[in-house]
Amino acid sequence: RHYLNRIEEERHLNIYVDVYGEDALREATRQDEARTQGARMGKLAGVVLSIKDVVCYAGHGVSAGSRMLEDFVAPYTATALQRLLDEDAIVIGRTNCDEFAMGSGNENSHYGPTRNAADPARVPGGSSGGAAVSVQAGTCLLAMGSSTGGSVRQPASFCGLYGFKPTYGRISRHGLIAYGSSFDQIGYLSRQPQDIALALEISAGSDAFDATAPNKAVPLYSKSDVVRSPQSIAYFEETLNSDAIDPAIRAATAKAIQDLEAAGHKLVPVSFNYFDYVVPTYYVLTTAEASSNLSRFDGMRYGYRSPEASDLTETYTKSRSEGFGTEVQRRILLGTFVLSSGYYDAYYGKAQKVRRLIRDQLQGILDVHDFILMPVSPSLPWPVGEQVDDPVANYLADIYTVMANLAGLPAVAIPVATDGHLPVGYQLMADQWEEGKLLDFVRGL
Ligand code: GLN
Repeated sequence: RHYLNRIEEERHLNIYVDVYGEDALREATRQDEARTQGARMGKLAGVVLSIKDVVCYAGHGVSAGSRMLEDFVAPYTATALQRLLDEDAIVIGRTNCDEFAMGSGNENSHYGPTRNAADPARVPGGSSGGAAVSVQAGTCLLAMGSSTGGSVRQPASFCGLYGFKPTYGRISRHGLIAYGSSFDQIGYLSRQPQDIALALEISAGSDAFDATAPNKAVPLYSKSDVVRSPQSIAYFEETLNSDAIDPAIRAATAKAIQDLEAAGHKLVPVSFNYFDYVVPTYYVLTTAEASSNLSRFDGMRYGYRSPEASDLTETYTKSRSEGFGTEVQRRILLGTFVLSSGYYDAYYGKAQKVRRLIRDQLQGILDVHDFILMPVSPSLPWPVGEQVDDPVANYLADIYTVMANLAGLPAVAIPVATDGHLPVGYQLMADQWEEGKLLDFVRGL
């Protein structure tokens, strides 16, 4: 009831696409009674969760923030969500997001922008903007989001929260609406890293429905000892003095480094040769994958069908033109272009090779050091509407988050205490499958 009241009080922030009030209350009541009768409760009994509008929950709408799927009802439940439900998590609603998770400000949603609770004139980040504000505004305890290139860490840092994406493959993608399949991962946002550790240990692990989720043992992330022993943490000097980074963020990064040094850790400046190539590589590859993934929305099999169409070709073109928003259409065009014959080798093929170079260099750093420290975003939350006409500016701001997704590495955004009114965070990245070590460290901070 408390959380549902909060949702009512914060309607103006446009956090939820759908609120499951009655069901959530019924489930909470059922759990209360079961507990009174001494029943064994799940690990998440009483934990109120929001899910991003890209996660399938059987019998509930799921639209990916798109007109294309406005009336679509999920026929099954995502594996990760099912595992949380099996431990008695209570889903309170589905949160607003950028259309098909494409964006960094939650301004590309069919349902309008979500607003940052710290300053409602500003964006909450994206694409999991609703997820972030759902926790920030106290409407739930934990939010399930998704990250293709930063959509969990960036909104978490814009809203003063912890945001975590695991190693690619750690959590099944079954039931997560696809954007860029070789990048997509489910992640969590919360005020406490401990909550994230618990959600991860429950939802991670192999799944017969996702061949990219390998059969690797899942540690009890929430139970392991926190790490306070000295760690070696690499950082990039240019992130402390680049003019492209907001001074408040440079200051926050410098403060994070100082605080960690003061706590006895070794902070080591390292270099990275590919900063100029990170964003282009990400946008060539993800738009290519998106153009393929989104070809299933053809007006025939799924979702929106234009009432104006008179033959098959018109059904395709009109349904897609009317069903998809501007940013999604831009990316489908871009992705189709880079995959087209004659351009494939020059763009897609080359970007695959650069992805490997980026990955190998990050791997090289992580062979020597425990973690890599970086800003999350070069910008503070911007005023709603300011960047909608400048997609390139939006893309460039993804530079520090897309690296982990390009390399498939686990990474976490950590809030920094600031004197300004806008939240700021920094980021730590770890080696593949070392989310346990990363979370043990962050839980000990
Ligand atoms: N901002 C990035 C993009 O628009 C990342 C989005 C995401 O992680 N879903 O692609």
